[in-house]
Amino acid sequence: MALIVQKYGGTSVGTTERIEHVARKIKTFRDKGDDVVVVVSAMSGETNRLLELAEAVHPHARGRELDVLLSTGEQVTISLLSMALARLGCPARSYTGSQVCILTDSEFNKARIQTIEQERIREDLGKGRVVVVAGFQGVDEHGNITTLGRGGSDTTAVALAAALKADECQIYTDVDGVYTTDPRVVSDARRLDRITFEEMLEMASLGSKVLQIRSVEFAGKYNVPLRVLSTFVEGPGTLITFEDEDMEEALISGIAFSRDEAQLTVTGVPDHPGVAYKIIGAVSALNIEVDMIVQNVGAADGLADFTFTVHRNDYERAMEGLREAVEKLEAREVRGDTRIAKVSLVGVGMRSHAGIASKMFEALGREGVNILMISTSEIKISVIIQEKYLELAVRALHDAFELAGPPEERVDSAGT
Ligand code: ASP
Ligand code: MG
Repeated sequence: MALIVQKYGGTSVGTTERIEHVARKIKTFRDKGDDVVVVVSAMSGETNRLLELAEAVHPHARGRELDVLLSTGEQVTISLLSMALARLGCPARSYTGSQVCILTDSEFNKARIQTIEQERIREDLGKGRVVVVAGFQGVDEHGNITTLGRGGSDTTAVALAAALKADECQIYTDVDGVYTTDPRVVSDARRLDRITFEEMLEMASLGSKVLQIRSVEFAGKYNVPLRVLSTFVEGPGTLITFEDEDMEEALISGIAFSRDEAQLTVTGVPDHPGVAYKIIGAVSALNIEVDMIVQNVGAADGLADFTFTVHRNDYERAMEGLREAVEKLEAREVRGDTRIAKVSLVGVGMRSHAGIASKMFEALGREGVNILMISTSEIKISVIIQEKYLELAVRALHDAFELAGPPEERVDSAGT
């Protein structure tokens, strides 16, 4: 007997048939004697539909009223799921965020959870009921409805699991776990049995969009065992957990990549103190996040070239912001490139193993992939390359580090 928090995403509750399927799934846990708290998203597409409605009446709709609107999506699914459970002879109670008192701050559209009241939930569980909670929403101290930002139901589930000290928080979705890389790029990508919170944060922030990043941070902070599994295919999924010293860690867990990058280079910068600040400062002042930074000084002329990357959406603004700075600095020119991509090897095993970087560069060199920039951290090596080589690079690295699974474990792309 365990206490489990389960979260079902939009596609898992996208039709009434799917809601019935989810209800049957929940019942199997109840039949085993587990206590189950369920968090659901809105039916797939519903939150976008509501946003479009808002935009039709007010092009810049934001704040309190938008949250009143957006929170309705999840209210539909909690009630339908509770009805479907009741029909199976599985008593259930639905609650909106404010009803179970998921207390948040008052930052409408991106509120943060502060506390969760457990009394009501515990009482229902004690009476043998399944508790069904609306994801993505809460209430502030003044009784206003708030929402947690897109994908926020993951965070609701993790926060509930942390508050209730659940044995596990299970995130049910349309993929059956976290993969070594995107199976659409590498067909023999392998599902990972386990991955650490740290690795998952790197994978998630680099574009493997399985979980809302904030929910992974939350789970790591409160030590909530988190499992990603498929609603539609049976299997163990991927457990996201702490590093386990007894187990032999894989050297590399996965390869993340992102096409959302752009590169800017300021050439011919006089090499004296304060220059980096003036260049990066001009971009930061526009609230643009800078990712990788490289500076090199030519020995002959003593002038420096300064290159950095930003999100592709920020490219034009960053360019403009730089122009003035470049004039003041009397640098030569600013160049830019939006056809670049970032590829990263992620693995906690890197901490204790040397030579990963050279093996990575060797594999890329062999394929004729030119590396434009490099950055490293304790558990990650990232390179910037030309976008046209992205898939080639990901495949080459997946091979070089032997990340593919044995044939029987390979993804059956027809099955998912
Ligand atoms: N329904 C919300 C969204 O689409 C929250 C969620 O699904 O997690 O972003
Ligand atoms: Mg989601």
